[in-house]
Amino acid sequence: MKYTAEEIRAAMKNGELCAFYQPQYDSITSLVKSAEALVRWIKPDGEIVSPAHFIPVAEETDLIMEIDWYMAEQACKTLYKQNMMPQFPISVNFSRRHIREDNFAKKLTELVDQYDLPHPLFEVEITESAMVGEEEKLLDWIVSIRNAGFTVAIDDFGSGLSSLQFVKDVPADVLKIDKSLLSHNCENEKERIVLESIFTFAHRLHMKTVAEGVETREQLAFLRSCDCNKIQGYIFARPMPEEEYLSLCQLHQSVEEPTDILKLQSPASAINLLMEAVFRRYPLVIFTNLTKNTFYMMAYQNFSRTSCPSTGVFDDLIAHGKITMHPDDQEIFASTFERKKLINDYNNGIKEVRLVTRQMGDDGIYRRVETTDYFVKSNYSNDIIVITLCDNLPE
Ligand code: C2E
Ligand code: MG
Ligand code: MG
Repeated sequence: MKYTAEEIRAAMKNGELCAFYQPQYDSITSLVKSAEALVRWIKPDGEIVSPAHFIPVAEETDLIMEIDWYMAEQACKTLYKQNMMPQFPISVNFSRRHIREDNFAKKLTELVDQYDLPHPLFEVEITESAMVGEEEKLLDWIVSIRNAGFTVAIDDFGSGLSSLQFVKDVPADVLKIDKSLLSHNCENEKERIVLESIFTFAHRLHMKTVAEGVETREQLAFLRSCDCNKIQGYIFARPMPEEEYLSLCQLHQSVEEPTDILKLQSPASAINLLMEAVFRRYPLVIFTNLTKNTFYMMAYQNFSRTSCPSTGVFDDLIAHGKITMHPDDQEIFASTFERKKLINDYNNGIKEVRLVTRQMGDDGIYRRVETTDYFVKSNYSNDIIVITLCDNLPE
């Protein structure tokens, strides 16, 4: 069934459009943390029309902007009703047409302020496809919304031709991963690799992640292992009327968060915690691909006087390291960690290479440093990989 713009406008006038809310759950604790507002057209006879039947028509004209602002106000009213409880953020969909709307952030500020709501509770969703061809405008638009204190989410990530280049530049807070990336059981290895990579880069870009359209326990288990932050999907709840959502919030706010850290941690976040402990013990950790002559530093705590790039060519790293050593240690340092020599060590079955040298610190004082290279095997290639742990020794 396809409706005309006039029919949709009339429905809005008659108050037949209303907001349903689909809760978003913490992937580890399974507690409600937020919700997305989704428009529904409820006809006088009770029939519920899904947005797929009228949003595309509305999007052909500025009518969509009226609908979105109407939904934004509904979300504010719902947030306002949560006044007496801990308020869970609500995200609202905005069509790409708003990117060209004058003073969007100001208008949103005025609306949200009318209800006296903290701005971070209001999340603006814009779909990934809105980015195509509008890059620069969209960036300014997002920056203005975030500067006004609101949260911004990229919706439907992975549904179209996502540009990683652009995601890198977009200062959004949340990445919503589209359901089209999830198969029923996540049984396909390639699919899992792609998803894992998306979560890894999102988190490294300091974005929170929401997986959409999660329906099965297999999907949920896999997403937990990827450290996905929130889950939105039928496995937990379908979009529901406001009243139902508010009672759900009430129910969930009184549930105590589980505190058993081992139960709470997904494998990926457990690894992050483990890394924290490793960094405390070893202030500098370096990953090197000897075959490709590259390195990447995981932590760098002013180990030496001359600052060193955190990634680059391994040979240069050793050359740099050499000049920070005590003159008497320079030759042994350079020859021990010379790349070809390390490759020989590896080929001769050596598992680790260790050396203590004196290295100059920021304060100009030489300190004893122990450098240990561990040869490790990568699951993904035959390249020779080394993990270097550097430790300051007591005087
Ligand atoms: P969306 O923003 O990506 O919203 C998520 C859609 O996925 C919703 O469909 C939701 O009901 C559906 N969904 C959630 N969990 C599952 C699941 O486990 N399985 C399946 N199969 N589907 C799930 P809905 O409500 O039909 O909305 C469709 C689209 O219409 C939305 O996609 C959004 O792009 C658009 N839309 C909805 N409300 C508005 C609005 O107020 N303004 C604008 N501009 N667009 C809206
Ligand atoms: Mg959405
Ligand atoms: Mg979506």
